[in-house]
Amino acid sequence: MNFEPTVWSCSFCGRNGTADTRYAGGLGALMCTDCLDSFCAEFAAPENASRKVIGWSDEELSNIEMLARLPLISATGAQVDRYLRTWVNLIRERHVSYAEIGKALGVSRQAAWERFSRPVEPAGTNGEAAAAPQD
Ligand SMILES: [Zn+2]
Repeated sequence: MNFEPTVWSCSFCGRNGTADTRYAGGLGALMCTDCLDSFCAEFAAPENASRKVIGWSDEELSNIEMLARLPLISATGAQVDRYLRTWVNLIRERHVSYAEIGKALGVSRQAAWERFSRPVEPAGTNGEAAAAPQD
């Protein structure tokens, strides 16, 4: 797996990684060390002791703030999908069958093959151009 930080982005602030970026997390949802430090400090603050979510509570955000987060959520979804596809490719390199991959995901062999047999899209493309509606 390519863990070069420049091909990933922080799922919390949206910044693209640089050569010096370090991430916490995995599964495609990543947190840069700046966000990690910030969230740790906010969670440790006594006034936030009872809070379950910091910075992402829909009850505290305006419509504009919620709309502004849509691209970040979408980008994280694309990144998680890219991570999944890369992970499946690594499994396939170990000669694990699509039937086994499908079983692990709770789908048929055919469904696994249809979803994962095409090449992994480079970061930032997400295959959206080919699937964009024409309206
Ligand atoms: Zn960040």
